[in-house]
Amino acid sequence: MITFYPGPSKVYDEVGQYLQEAFESGVISANHRSQEFMQMLEKTIHDLKIKLAVPDDYEVYFVSSATECWEIIAQSLIVESSLHIYNGAFGEKWMDYTNKISRNTAESPFELNEVLVLHESVVRKNEVVCITHNETSNGTKVSDDFFANIRKRLPNVIAVDATSSMAGVILPWENADVWYASVQKCFGLPAGMAVMIVSPRAIQQAVMVGERKHYNSLLFTRDNFLKFQTPYTPNTLGIYLISKVMQQVPAIAEVDFRTKERAKSWYSFLEHNGYQLMVENEAVRSDTVIAVRDAKERIAVLKKAAKQEGIILGNGYGKEKDTSFRIANFPAINDNEIATLREFLARMALKTVNE
Ligand SMILES: *Cc1c(COP(=O)(O)O)cnc(C)c1O
Repeated sequence: MITFYPGPSKVYDEVGQYLQEAFESGVISANHRSQEFMQMLEKTIHDLKIKLAVPDDYEVYFVSSATECWEIIAQSLIVESSLHIYNGAFGEKWMDYTNKISRNTAESPFELNEVLVLHESVVRKNEVVCITHNETSNGTKVSDDFFANIRKRLPNVIAVDATSSMAGVILPWENADVWYASVQKCFGLPAGMAVMIVSPRAIQQAVMVGERKHYNSLLFTRDNFLKFQTPYTPNTLGIYLISKVMQQVPAIAEVDFRTKERAKSWYSFLEHNGYQLMVENEAVRSDTVIAVRDAKERIAVLKKAAKQEGIILGNGYGKEKDTSFRIANFPAINDNEIATLREFLARMALKTVNE
């Protein structure tokens, strides 16, 4: 089976070998307060910051999921309220989770094909601004210009869900304060861990909020990570695997270039073959998750036929669950796999025309 599911998604081919190495090395039985573990954690964070070009003064923590990051932000960074700017299911879910904790969220939804622009007047003082960089549910992205603009014009802490783009494209780190991603998407790793990257400004705000009531409070997590330890017994295997993958992958500039070339090629291929792209506005089309819309019956036929040929297409998500499919354009997917899916889609396109 080859999978184009946008999370959990295809892991790097080398992960099988890394799993065996992890077992043989003994590190996954090591105590997480041991020198051996701490050295591994230090090196992993160092390598990740270099490969992803994370600014020196940003800190990296490993937590359990993107969902946990929603909770951490709500508990540890929100002074009074948060503003959620979203156009799809994940951004909305983030707001819903936050609301359960903080009871004070504001929303600023935008349209699928809309180029997001900042309306400063909707942002209140001290409000944490929450944005989904790449909306996995509908295949849209927010532009770098938006982040540059918001950074220039607002002093607020900005938190970004980059779950389906981090490690796949270059992120404008300096223009936001909290970036996070689960590892089962562009990192090409098994689920069960997330990377959280925070700026000095976010840390300053966490200190001001002073929240230390939870096992995953940001300040408590930070105290531990500054010593290359973790607040609770961590996913050591996950950390081992991300360390291996961060050694293996090229620098993010190179990955970004390849991701964007592949995305362009996917979009033109699909249009050329008569598939209807969910996102009409080219400027907001995601580079990492491609959404295709069709009639419900046709989607079912395509998914079933694909499966018979050993190809898993991503289901639609949220509102468009039955009327779309998604194709992950994640770095772990190789050229042969892409060629196989293309050959299938080209054949299926002809079939409709002839029947
Ligand atoms: C997949 C995804 C999540 C959820 O990740 P979990 O690992 O299940 O917590 C959150 N946000 C976005 C944008 C996602 O793509």
